[in-house]
Amino acid sequence: DSRIFGLTGGIGSGKTTVAKILENMGFSIYYSDARAKDLVNESAYLKSEIIKLLGEDAYNKDGLYNRKYVANIVFTNPGKLDVLNSIIHPAVKSDFKNWLQNREDKEIIFKETALLFELDLDKECHQSVLVTAEDNARSKRVMDRDGKTYREVLNIMNKQMPEKEKIKRADFVIYNNGTLEDLQNEVEKVKSEIMALQF
Ligand code: ATP
Repeated sequence: DSRIFGLTGGIGSGKTTVAKILENMGFSIYYSDARAKDLVNESAYLKSEIIKLLGEDAYNKDGLYNRKYVANIVFTNPGKLDVLNSIIHPAVKSDFKNWLQNREDKEIIFKETALLFELDLDKECHQSVLVTAEDNARSKRVMDRDGKTYREVLNIMNKQMPEKEKIKRADFVIYNNGTLEDLQNEVEKVKSEIMALQF
């Protein structure tokens, strides 16, 4: 079996950047959130279940998932969001299982998931790695990346699990308050610690 490391972090923490660094080091990464976005388009089963729940408009005329439309509905209807998640999550879970089958025995893999702790998905991993950074650094990066305002980023940050709680829960913590070069060094350190583990 593979050694599964859950990789997570709040908005703008740099978890995707860390995932890319790990990928460049030769590790296999499963990008849960990106896969979920693909699966709603690829899976006929998901498509039919989502249309049953949210109506035909959940997909555009070209057959692609209409993220904006769905976001609008579930924003005003949290009950529907729960049902939508209960449709999508098992599909990602089984997609991940399939993906794992193509990994080497004892291979160290990283599963990047934004809501790793919020959804208790760390229980399905051997260990967890959190990427964290100070609020100011995170909000600045997201404002630069997405053109969001400071308020908008702050609103999202305030809805996520507090960093303190995540830090307590994570097995490894990567602090991303410096340059990208600093981040590379931090990831090297965690890599050495992980490689030294006995499973
Ligand atoms: P989200 O959950 O919002 O997708 P994320 O945790 O995946 O965020 P990234 O996309 O990796 O975060 O990083 C956010 C932005 O900040 C990216 O544009 C990335 O290039 C940049 N960034 C990350 N770390 C640093 C750093 N140490 N110095 C400068 N820019 C950084």
